[in-house]
Amino acid sequence: MRIGMGYDVHRLAEGRELILGGVRIPWEKGLLGHSDADVVVHAIMDALLGAAALGDIGKHFPDTDPAYAGISSIELLKRVGRLLEEHFYFIGNIDATIIAQRPKLAPYREEMVRNVAAALEISENQVSIKATTEEGLGFTGRGEGIAAQAVALLNQAADYAYADVRRDCGSCGGCQSPE
Ligand code: MG
Repeated sequence: MRIGMGYDVHRLAEGRELILGGVRIPWEKGLLGHSDADVVVHAIMDALLGAAALGDIGKHFPDTDPAYAGISSIELLKRVGRLLEEHFYFIGNIDATIIAQRPKLAPYREEMVRNVAAALEISENQVSIKATTEEGLGFTGRGEGIAAQAVALLNQAADYAYADVRRDCGSCGGCQSPE
């Protein structure tokens, strides 16, 4: 098993759409960024890449590359999912927190979970997305930006193989159970 963490911040600006977890949220401002600036999906991607020790989103999708201008972060998340697959990683679970003073995000939470789970081809019960305020404190409290944190757990094929060996041990007499 391997664990990873991700953290991201984007500035709120007028004239931008607010997209969180792939959901377009009606709001007076949106997040500024090279892509769609989906801060929670960025934190999730960095947690997944971190757990696999495969770098970060800046390495895979540089914001100097015009190919990623305005791109849906859910699209980038699909690519991260495929990269993990190529390296024989399986996602255990993801837990993310969005830190925003406003708007209220609870009504959009389930749709965000559905989008992330679908992009990674995992079950919705492997994805948790929560939201909190910082009680009016700091840059999120003043509404200057939105932050997100995420952790992710990855499993490798070897983890499952070992579990199977332990479970089956004794039936053939050929292996020594550690228990
Ligand atoms: Mg970002």
